[in-house]
Amino acid sequence: MSGLRYIEGVVTLELDRERCIGCGLCVQVCPHGVFVLESGQAVLTARDQCMECGACARNCPAEAIAVEAGEGCVRGIINELLGLEGPCC
Ligand code: SF4
Ligand code: SF4
Repeated sequence: MSGLRYIEGVVTLELDRERCIGCGLCVQVCPHGVFVLESGQAVLTARDQCMECGACARNCPAEAIAVEAGEGCVRGIINELLGLEGPCC
């Protein structure tokens, strides 16, 4: 088996480019490099690598990003295993 593989086409992440104001926060907070800024706007370049942590959507000041966070949140999974409550990512 070669390295980690991502399942294509199942990510809930959506970007509304008409709302994007190009602040770049999503580029900064995404741990998987899913976004880049091009011509002053966010672009999804690696959508299938999104782990649905929700950080981009929570930090976007323009509410341009929607994602069903939770399924891939490592902190949430660890907290659940430890029997702890806490915010996801
Ligand atoms: S939900 Fe998390 S992994 Fe997915 S694009 Fe946003 S910051 Fe990146
Ligand atoms: S955080 Fe929101 S407004 Fe800022 S660049 Fe990303 S999508 Fe655009």
